[in-house]
Amino acid sequence: MQLYCNSLTTYSRLKTKEVKIGDLLLGNHHPIRVQTMTTTDTMNTIATVEQTIRCIEAGAELVRITAPSIKEAENLLNIKNELHKRGYKIPLIADIHFTPNAAELAARIIEKVRVNPGNYVDKKKFEQIEYTDIEYAEEIDRIRERFTPLLKICKEYGTAMRIGTNHGSLSDRIMSRYGDTPMGMVESAMEFLRIARGENYHNIVLSMKASNPKVMVHAYRLLIQQMDAEFGECYPLHLGVTEAGDGEDGRVKSAVGIGTLLEDGIGDTIRVSLTEDPEFEIPVCKDLVKRYNFSNTAKPNATIPEITTQLLHKLPSFGGVGGGRRESFAVENIGGNHVPIVIADLSKLDEITPEKLTNVGYTYNAALDKWNIADAAADYIYTGKAVLNFNLPGTLKVITLPNYWQTAFDKEKYFPIYDAKGFVETENKVSDKINFVMLDCFNDDTQINDFTYLDELANQPTVVLCLSSINKYPMAAVRRMFVELMNRNIKNPVVLLVDSYWQTADEHLIHYATEAGALLLDGFGDGICLGMSSDSYQNSNQQLTGRNYSTNHSVEQFINSTAFSILQATRTRISKTEYISCPSCGRTLFDLQETTAKIRKRTHHLKGVKIAIMGCIVNGPGEMADADFGYVGSGIGKITLYKGKEIVKRNIDSEIAVDELIHLLKANDAWVEPET
Ligand code: SF4
Repeated sequence: MQLYCNSLTTYSRLKTKEVKIGDLLLGNHHPIRVQTMTTTDTMNTIATVEQTIRCIEAGAELVRITAPSIKEAENLLNIKNELHKRGYKIPLIADIHFTPNAAELAARIIEKVRVNPGNYVDKKKFEQIEYTDIEYAEEIDRIRERFTPLLKICKEYGTAMRIGTNHGSLSDRIMSRYGDTPMGMVESAMEFLRIARGENYHNIVLSMKASNPKVMVHAYRLLIQQMDAEFGECYPLHLGVTEAGDGEDGRVKSAVGIGTLLEDGIGDTIRVSLTEDPEFEIPVCKDLVKRYNFSNTAKPNATIPEITTQLLHKLPSFGGVGGGRRESFAVENIGGNHVPIVIADLSKLDEITPEKLTNVGYTYNAALDKWNIADAAADYIYTGKAVLNFNLPGTLKVITLPNYWQTAFDKEKYFPIYDAKGFVETENKVSDKINFVMLDCFNDDTQINDFTYLDELANQPTVVLCLSSINKYPMAAVRRMFVELMNRNIKNPVVLLVDSYWQTADEHLIHYATEAGALLLDGFGDGICLGMSSDSYQNSNQQLTGRNYSTNHSVEQFINSTAFSILQATRTRISKTEYISCPSCGRTLFDLQETTAKIRKRTHHLKGVKIAIMGCIVNGPGEMADADFGYVGSGIGKITLYKGKEIVKRNIDSEIAVDELIHLLKANDAWVEPET
């Protein structure tokens, strides 16, 4: 396999082996299965059963339950029996870390076990030990010895297994050889997979989770290539972004990571890890999956030209590797080394007043005649036909249709937007600073080989291209156009225009995060502008409040905030604090949702600081990945605070722990006072 998927220009599911989990078939083109994990104490049978039922009724097809020790593994039988008694028979999964004995017992009771290759045999000590090749091979033998009994039990009982690698909990052995890298994640799973194949056990699903979608996407792509190269076949993939957090941020981060892979036909089952009750994860999973039911889409199925081998090498993500960014020149503050800009579409408002700009980050204080600019303030607004009759905040600029731009007095602040034909045919009536030029990508078959406008626009120093598509596969169409730009050495900056035709806030959010996120993760895009179809806009004022993820914001505020969240999730522009909070499980030692809300309230203004909030000390420190500070449950009513991976305060009283976290931020120059 040259790349990591069947096709970059049409939707095609990656073929994987079929796995049987109880009566459920997964992989091999079976529907993408949705799953979640309980957050109750596994020893509380009734609470776990009832939460599992809520998840099943929301649509979960598999439910995972933590089994930290033998006693929880034993109690899985009571949970399973009670569920069966109540008529619920979906497959259950035991989540195992550190305790092979619990895995071996659980594998005899329920349908699937999840093992973490980072800690199934190895204990994480955060030590950097140098291994010789002989020592490394001895370690693999030790793993084989300890892992084989579980494989034999799974074979005997027909139990499935997930080898679930987490970026944050790689073993010291893997870290010493590969570092904290996507390749290390892949090798961590491959070591276990090779042993399983050696035992002729194949009922296996794999995952490569990370809290950073970029790392996660890269690791899955590498894993597919590695499996294909080594075995000539792929095992099914369970997709997820770990510790994604809650609310909008959690959904956007998950959709960026999971959606990017689903777009390319990768993924056989998904879990969206939110710091919320697990049943709330299911609608998000369903929204992600239903995008690939193309049977009732009316979008044009125009051909997107193949990406030839020669063109493949133009992709910044060639070989699955993230990190590269398409080179562009700067037009004012767009492209080059600038962070991606955000354009807010205000053209559907009846009237644009200073008050309306609050929705996109600019608050006018009439008493002081002063604009207050938020960290997540749009850089440009698109007003369509409106030229504004008030003074704009200093950093804000306006884009209008060409005829209205002509009438605008301040040409330092106002810029025109053309379609490609309109721009090419306009003689001299263009801005000498910035001209936005819209280009459709493969909306119909006439465009397959006709790049006439592209050549006429190429490298004009004031042109910012705005790419969009209404193709059935819009992300693939826009990506293909980027390849064409690179092929023709066209370096104009590009803004991604993403329109949504969906209806609910959740659907819009997932659509924007998937379409724009997939391109940004692959190094494409110098800006984004998210829009809504007129129908969706008309309906949206009611719909934006109706779902589990509820927002009382106006459409403009919702879209602006989503745009900044997508840039944050793709790590292309940091405008707020990042929270890496675990979804909680039976190991959790405090109310994670309440605590996360409390910490968010005190720290949400700390742009760029990454704070982890983790439910337990067993997995928390390992899994909080690249957080700057950690707040980790270490006993009933006890919290341990971390700076990076280092403990700074152990077992402090939870009553004072948030204050102590603030002291820690202050002591490390990570604190600024919030604006009043
Ligand atoms: S870090 Fe959170 S989700 Fe992970 S095992 Fe601990 S409490 Fe459970």
